[in-house]
Amino acid sequence: MTLIELVKILHKKYPTITLSAAKSYYWSPTEKTVFYQESDSNEIGIWTLLHETCHGLLEHSTYESDFELVKLEVAAWERATELANELKIVIDPEHIQDCLDSYRDWQYKRSLCPRCDLGGIQINQKTYECIFCGSSWHVSTARFCRPYRLRQTS
Ligand SMILES: [Zn+2]
Ligand SMILES: [Zn+2]
Repeated sequence: MTLIELVKILHKKYPTITLSAAKSYYWSPTEKTVFYQESDSNEIGIWTLLHETCHGLLEHSTYESDFELVKLEVAAWERATELANELKIVIDPEHIQDCLDSYRDWQYKRSLCPRCDLGGIQINQKTYECIFCGSSWHVSTARFCRPYRLRQTS
């Protein structure tokens, strides 16, 4: 199956979700649109499109913390695995693990106190606080699906 064939199938199956070609893959809750890279024809593109579509099917919109975002990522991959089975597509479980690991690494790095390098506590979407030295620091708001690390296949 090609990416374009999958776009057509998803469009028919889920008419309430808009699919639109763009420069990267992501789900926009405000536009109720899944953006995908049209030029991308490898299987990772197909898996990513399934994943983003599942953020839409699960109506993911806001989250209060980075930890919650990671939980939504796990849920979207679980739903994507079910949808893939329905469509006779196989998603490599290692790819899912890589994506989730990169989210966890990202969350861990954001949580580190700039002064003592220990893990802080997130007090709201944009702020972490260190319980050891009392510092607080701001983090950018995250959106669904950050670029994932690509596994070297040589
Ligand atoms: Zn500190
Ligand atoms: Zn995602």
